[in-house]
Amino acid sequence: MQGKDIEKILISKEEITQRCVELGEMLTKDYKEKNPLVVGILKGAVPFMADIVREIDTYIELDFMDVSSYGNQTVSSGEVKIIKDLDTNVEGRDLLIVEDIIDSGRTLGYLVDLFKYRKAKSVKIVTLLDKPEGRVVDIQADYIGFNVPNEFVVGYGLDYAEAYRNLPYVGVLKPEVYQSN
Ligand code: 5GP
Ligand code: MG
Ligand code: MG
Repeated sequence: MQGKDIEKILISKEEITQRCVELGEMLTKDYKEKNPLVVGILKGAVPFMADIVREIDTYIELDFMDVSSYGNQTVSSGEVKIIKDLDTNVEGRDLLIVEDIIDSGRTLGYLVDLFKYRKAKSVKIVTLLDKPEGRVVDIQADYIGFNVPNEFVVGYGLDYAEAYRNLPYVGVLKPEVYQSN
């Protein structure tokens, strides 16, 4: 019962579902006849990726990439490392990156530069959450689910020490959860 570790729910399951429908309508319109490659960033974006792609009603392809910048800590190390690269050649492709949250912007800043270097035709970002106060690198998402305050959040893909990714909502942990680690 991991729900007992949650102090408060910031974004409910119903709000996420509704927002995925809205974002899906925008993406369907913007990507009609473009056959974009939708790139999910493992592992945090998995629940959002699964929900959002089912609301996009046009031809798309999926791929995944795993990068790390945080380790198991709650503060960014500032380094970005590729753990798993794409299977697809992105040259000339329209890319839509799906991310769980933008905080410092380092991860996405690195990925956008990388995909431009690899000659993608266009690179856009859809993120479930945006934490604008955390920004260090000047980067913005093209589509944002929700803004969140400068707090560490978990659930719906977001982890603390690899736990809580499967919560169906986004919330804040009780302080004692960190203290017992
Ligand atoms: P950035 O590179 O923008 O600082 O951070 C991006 C990554 O850091 C996210 O994809 C996520 O994995 C992690 N991250 C940033 N803020 C949070 C947060 O509030 N909670 C969790 N669980 N992970 C976060
Ligand atoms: Mg992530
Ligand atoms: Mg993490």
